[in-house]
Amino acid sequence: MDAGDELLQRTRAFARQVVMPGAPRWETERRIAREALSAAAAIGLTGIEVPVAQGGLGLGYRVKARVAELLGAADFGFTMSLLNTHNVAAKLAREAPAALARRHVPDLLAGRRLGCTALTEPGAGSDFAAIVTRATRTPQGWRLDGAKAWITNAAEAELIVLYAQTDAGRGAPGIACFLVEATRAGFVREPAFALTGQHAIGTGGFRLDGYLARDDELLQPPGQAFKSALRSINGARVYIAAMCNGMVGEALRVALDYGGRRHSFGQPLAGHQGWRWRLAEAATELEASRGLVAQAAERVENGADAQLAAAQAKLFATRMAERQLPALAQAMGAEGLREQHPFGRHLAGARVACFVDGASEMLLERIAALQRAALAENPKE
Ligand SMILES: Cc1cc2nc3c(=O)[nH]c(=O)nc-3n(C[C@H](O)[C@H](O)[C@H](O)COP(=O)(O)OP(=O)(O)OC[C@H]3O[C@@H](n4cnc5c(N)ncnc54)[C@H](O)[C@@H]3O)c2cc1C
Repeated sequence: MDAGDELLQRTRAFARQVVMPGAPRWETERRIAREALSAAAAIGLTGIEVPVAQGGLGLGYRVKARVAELLGAADFGFTMSLLNTHNVAAKLAREAPAALARRHVPDLLAGRRLGCTALTEPGAGSDFAAIVTRATRTPQGWRLDGAKAWITNAAEAELIVLYAQTDAGRGAPGIACFLVEATRAGFVREPAFALTGQHAIGTGGFRLDGYLARDDELLQPPGQAFKSALRSINGARVYIAAMCNGMVGEALRVALDYGGRRHSFGQPLAGHQGWRWRLAEAATELEASRGLVAQAAERVENGADAQLAAAQAKLFATRMAERQLPALAQAMGAEGLREQHPFGRHLAGARVACFVDGASEMLLERIAALQRAALAENPKE
């Protein structure tokens, strides 16, 4: 068994023993599952893609996508929170000046500090190039002023990868990327957002009032940051799709099990053709979605152009989850409403999945643009 298989085995057990039983409580208590995040860190889940030399596991993207499916099956919100800290650790390990990475990566890997990535603002979501958080050059470094909203882990995160505009009105080329520490002067955290569900994501916002980022905390200068954010979004889209597959897979497993035990009109539910066809539809769509995710994950891992594959995998998986989770909940009858079952939580997770890392409409736009480009290149194919 290689290191990737070992991690997947540990993840499977962790999902069943810690995340599944904990998730309903975290939702009731409306909070980030800090203790479970530390336990996840202890089995290596904050360092999947972080090089071994920097304390991580040094594994490839395909293992990360499988982890996303296994954990997503247990809880979407917990998985979002965990992977966002993982992503900050991996970015710092890969791109930050060595001393900065040495200072922060160990805390993220150990789960002592949470990370988040802040693009979205109160006035700019899909239109990332329209962000207005200002970065102003000063003799001491970069002064940051503005507000971020709808950020995963913002309720508690200590380390923030933050995108800001260095040249008002310049759009994408003016955007730069910084590391921000929530413990320093000028960082003002807002209370976590009260939502209709998925509070383990720790969604929230914060303001920067004259926050000073040092020169070595400029992670990417203007001209590079926007492009780099778009490149990393492909990986995020694929693991969100994998999490949707996980949620539908778990809902299917619960419904299949129930259908063998619950009786109506003298036979198990699964004995009724109309009932079992619904589950057969779900199983078929799930396998199609897994195929798209596997194809896209391979492209991400190999560094191939993954734009089309990632957009299609996420679009298909989110729509499949939004179709199949209500159908599977319906197959459970009233029993499906019990808190111990994942249907309601997973449905809220599927809703969130339709927005994060590119709303469905933005994915359609991307797919359409790539179709036009492919036709222009090969008009006869
Ligand atoms: C729980 C949660 C966690 C999140 N975590 C993060 C995070 O960690 N970091 C981060 O930076 N952001 C995060 N986001 C924000 C997420 O990326 C945005 O919600 C997303 O980019 C969409 O932006 P918006 O919600 O402002 O919608 P808007 O941009 O206001 O759009 C509203 C609707 O109009 C549609 N629309 C917009 N423009 C067009 C168009 N040109 N054509 C057709 N339709 C259009 C959109 O698709 C959407 O359906 C999170 C969001 C949620 C809900």
